Amino acid sequence: MNTGTLVISLDFELHWGVRDKRSVANYRQHLLGVREAIPQILKLFRQHEIRATWATVGFLFCESKSELLAHLPSRQPQYTNHHLSPYSDIPQLGEDEQHDPYHFAPSLLEQIAKVPGQEIASHTLSHYYCLEEGQHPEDFAEDLEIAQTLAQKKLGYRLKSLVFPRNQYSPPHLQVAYAHGFCVFRGNPSSWMYHTRANADDSRFRRAFRLIDSYLPVHQPSLMDTSRSVWLPKVNGSIYNVPASTFLRPYSRRLRRLEDYRYQRLDTAMQTAASSQQIFHLWWHPHNFGINLQKNLRALEHILTTFDAMRTQYGMKSLRMDEIAALTSSSQRNTLNPLPVTTLKSETTTQRGITILPAGGQTDTLNPPRVTTA
Ligand SMILES: [Zn+2]
Repeated sequence: MNTGTLVISLDFELHWGVRDKRSVANYRQHLLGVREAIPQILKLFRQHEIRATWATVGFLFCESKSELLAHLPSRQPQYTNHHLSPYSDIPQLGEDEQHDPYHFAPSLLEQIAKVPGQEIASHTLSHYYCLEEGQHPEDFAEDLEIAQTLAQKKLGYRLKSLVFPRNQYSPPHLQVAYAHGFCVFRGNPSSWMYHTRANADDSRFRRAFRLIDSYLPVHQPSLMDTSRSVWLPKVNGSIYNVPASTFLRPYSRRLRRLEDYRYQRLDTAMQTAASSQQIFHLWWHPHNFGINLQKNLRALEHILTTFDAMRTQYGMKSLRMDEIAALTSSSQRNTLNPLPVTTLKSETTTQRGITILPAGGQTDTLNPPRVTTA
């Protein structure tokens, strides 16, 4: 494949993703706004024929508190910072999605799954933090196992793509993910300001640089080369990395005078990817659209209109994370003399030349997923 590609992934998490930073009471508007934002985002995806990956916190699959209680891991991460663990919140949850729209979302998942081309993926069961002190990869293994069990029960297949909460991962966690059926994850952009680390080590300085980077060219967005027969780095010979290029930062009233710069940044990255056969991977959270919905939708529509122009001019494609992995895998199988595979600098234990296996027990990657409400 030698065309530019747009990959979109959304971290669908509701309160599970922000509970250590914000209470339901002070983030209520954003969280309730997700229920309006998702249908609108899906409408734009339909109009522009966008295939997207929805990395979903496993607890959101549950119909009720009793179903969630029936799917708790026996090994729960013992984070040194106790506040990070979601398990102490569970007694206070409402009974179901109707009574607690902040922690349950089967109806939203059903809406997503009905739209052609959407992939339901994983954001772990519990919004798990791989680099936080006190957790253990064995805890992570059980977390992912239950996420897969819930997916199998609700969707009828196992999940293939994984987005690590707070983008925290390490080689042992990637091995665990592969062992639990994941064939692709979203890595971090290459710049120092995006390197993965525990929450407490993420300084204000780094966060400020990331904010400025959304508006001004502090660093070039990380685009992946698709023009070679092997496009993507693999880690430990097992799991593909489709690294993020850019976080779609929500509209900010404080920075509204810089909106044109933000649009320009996104356009330039898309145009560069299209004209040089690279992958532009854009990501955000639906709760980022929970307020200022129309302004955020306008930004998304602008991006998708730029994508349409690139599709016409350069044949740019929209693909999901699992599709990129499947195409890469088949491209590698069909290549007699594969090119050397690049490795991530921070992940040094790559073993080269190992056959990439498809994740087990999967249905056709191009078929839209099915949700059952039972
Ligand atoms: Zn998250």
